[in-house]
Amino acid sequence: MSFGRSNRECFLHRMYVASILATFFSASAMEYPPYRFWIRTDTHPQQPLPSGNHSSVTLALSSVPLDVQQVVKTYQQGNATIHALDGVDLTVKQGEFVAIMGASGSGKSTLLHAIAGLIDVDGGSVTIAGQDLSLLSDVPLTKFRRDNLGIVFQAYNLIPSLTAEANIRLPAKGGTELDHRVDELLSQLGMSERRDHKPGALSGGEQQRIAIARALVCNPAILLADEPTGSLDSVTGTQICQLLRMLVDQQNCSIVMVTHEAHVAMWADRICVLKDGKNLAEFATDGSRDPQSVAQQYQQLLGTEAIA
Ligand code: ADP
Ligand code: MG
Repeated sequence: MSFGRSNRECFLHRMYVASILATFFSASAMEYPPYRFWIRTDTHPQQPLPSGNHSSVTLALSSVPLDVQQVVKTYQQGNATIHALDGVDLTVKQGEFVAIMGASGSGKSTLLHAIAGLIDVDGGSVTIAGQDLSLLSDVPLTKFRRDNLGIVFQAYNLIPSLTAEANIRLPAKGGTELDHRVDELLSQLGMSERRDHKPGALSGGEQQRIAIARALVCNPAILLADEPTGSLDSVTGTQICQLLRMLVDQQNCSIVMVTHEAHVAMWADRICVLKDGKNLAEFATDGSRDPQSVAQQYQQLLGTEAIA
């Protein structure tokens, strides 16, 4: 847990993370058989759906895994109205890696939670692989989320009593195809030797690799990451960034990553900057992976505000 937080803040943070995990891996989602086992290299073809009435989660053909239009989210605190998101747009193409930057409180995490369908938005739309999330009721939304989104948190959020392999399997159901998929992920992420270790016996970087494998096990249309290197030292953080980059370059994965650090954002193709819940600007990275260049452009956009 981060230094400088009171016990009460730590407790509230844990409760918050637990509630997100419960939403993500709810029992109803566990009943939904997995039917995709590898990163999509196409443009989201119609997938065979399991038997039963699941028409509401059928995917439309789309080469745009994510389309966020004019999303609004407000919170009421006493008499104050907080405009966490105030008409944000974001489009992410297949095989694109987008970083969301912005000062603390600019709405980055709220945007990621809106994309993940973890919060109800007050206006605008979030469309993933052709599906408008607002049209899904709770159970189909949970199933859709489980099958189309992977999410990685700063704090890994692995289940401590389960082995690395069991954590990866958590969102999916068993079967030989799943066995194959888990083996592939463990090998791809360099974690085959650690599959029987519990999180407590793994380093931070290894735990984040397992969390990434868990996020990918159902072959999501889009991978969401909220400050994925925030708890790691810079060398391990860079390894995680390289891993995310590899997933985009070699597996055509689409990624949205929240970060406030230029040396993390530089791994993305495009950087979208939020300010006060609004799109401030966005710029493409030139592929040189130059943190100074990213930091300068970001600082110019934000004026004199410092970056961490
Ligand atoms: P960031 O991730 O960029 O630091 P957040 O998206 O977490 O920012 O928060 C954006 C704004 O919305 C902040 O002012 C924050 O205090 C507020 N906010 C976020 N979640 C809540 C909530 N559950 N209740 C009240 N205000 C919230
Ligand atoms: Mg945040």
